[in-house]
Formats: sequence, structure tokens, C-alpha cells
Amino acid sequence: MKLIDTHAHLEDIEPLDEALTRAEQAGVTKIITMGVDRKSNQWALNESSKHARLSLKIYPALGIHPSWIDEQRVDADLEFIEENISKIIAVGEIGLDYWYKTVRKDEQKKNLQRETFRRLLEVVKKHKKPVSIHSRGAWTDCVDIAIEIGVEKAVFHWFTGSLKDLKKLLDKGYYVSATPALSYSKEHKSIIENTPLDRILLETDSPVMYQGESSEPSHVLKALYCVAELKKEKNEIVAQITTENAKKVFGF
Ligand SMILES: [Zn+2]
Repeated sequence: MKLIDTHAHLEDIEPLDEALTRAEQAGVTKIITMGVDRKSNQWALNESSKHARLSLKIYPALGIHPSWIDEQRVDADLEFIEENISKIIAVGEIGLDYWYKTVRKDEQKKNLQRETFRRLLEVVKKHKKPVSIHSRGAWTDCVDIAIEIGVEKAVFHWFTGSLKDLKKLLDKGYYVSATPALSYSKEHKSIIENTPLDRILLETDSPVMYQGESSEPSHVLKALYCVAELKKEKNEIVAQITTENAKKVFGF
């Protein structure tokens, strides 16, 4: 099986090279490492490819995570992304996050997130890049803004929004990505159950913790097994289809 981890944060994985060896052994052939701020964007662009192997390629994406927007730096960070747009596979991780009460009640913070998200999506649209979108607690706004701006290729990563929002994004031809959280998250399961296989990608968001255990790119297998079980399909078939989907979206 050939697998693609379409959303990881490799700079946060320790020790990285051992984790990448396990990924290679698990059949992972490509990983997209997401930038979330200035430091991780620099790492993704300049360092990540040094960890690639003969049969495991690493691709940088640059972004500004909604939870890590630095108002003083946002113009410079946007400029950095656009200057390097030809060197990256996608824009990400970008989006909105209203999950925490402190943000939910703070209109100023939400406005800054929305404004930054819109500016980033304009860059995505202008350069016809795919985008990986974080939408926790802000699912409807994320879907509506992506549609309004007219982004062509979008992946709603680890999507857990409503079925109504899911329908809107699928109608636009967008994708969702499945994480190992499928083994326990009702919301994520319901999304994947209601998404056709030809719109599903796999990812780990590693090293994010799932039920107390930190993850790594080889755990894309866990996402695969869960999707296969939900879809009552063979692992090999799901691997093949989701890998084809990823190739279609990111143009590897
Ligand atoms: Zn992420």
C-alpha cells in the first residue's frame, strides 16, 4: 500500500528521523508538513526536505494557523507565503478556530482571524494553490468564506462540522481529510460516513495527541483502517482511492 499523510507538523515530532523510518515502513510515500507561524514556515520551507528518503518525500505547505496569528507580523507572514508560493505544494494550515470560550466571546479576535483567513484565501485563489483548512468550532464560517472567495481546491482537515456544512463543501467539489480520531470521535465518524470515498484524504495532524497518545505519520494507517471499516471496504482499496484523491488535489 502507498499512503500519503496530507497534514502533519513534522517540526514538532521528536525524534523525527525514527518516526520517518516507521512511516516509510508503514508505506507512507509522501508527507505534507504544514506551517503554522513564522518559525514553522521557515522550517517547512528550508529544513523539512532534508529529512526525505528515497521512497518518502516531504512537501512543505506554508500558512498562518488561526490560533497563532501575530497581529504585528501578519503582513510580513503573508508576504513570506506569497514570495515562496512557487516552492510549496499547498497553503496551510490556515482557517478559523472559535473553539475556546475566550475566542468565541472576543469579536476582535474573531475578526482578525476572519480577515487573515480571507487574505490568505485570496493568495490561494490568485495562485491556484490547494489549501488545507482548519475549521474547529468555526465550521460554517470556514465553509462559507471558502465558497464566497471561490477557492478551487480545498481540504477541510479533520472536519467535524454539521452535515449541512458538509453538503455545502462537497457540492463545491471540496474534500475532507480523516484522522485517527475516527476511532472515537462521533462527529468525525459521522462526517466520514457521509462523505463519498472519492472525496476523502488521509492525515495524522501529528504529533497531535489522540486519547493521550501522541501521533506520528505512520499512524495514517489508523485513519486508513477506520475509513475502511466505516466504508466496509478493503484497506488496499481505501489506500488506493485516498492516495489518488491526494494526488488529484495536490498535483504531486
Ligand atoms: Zn494541523
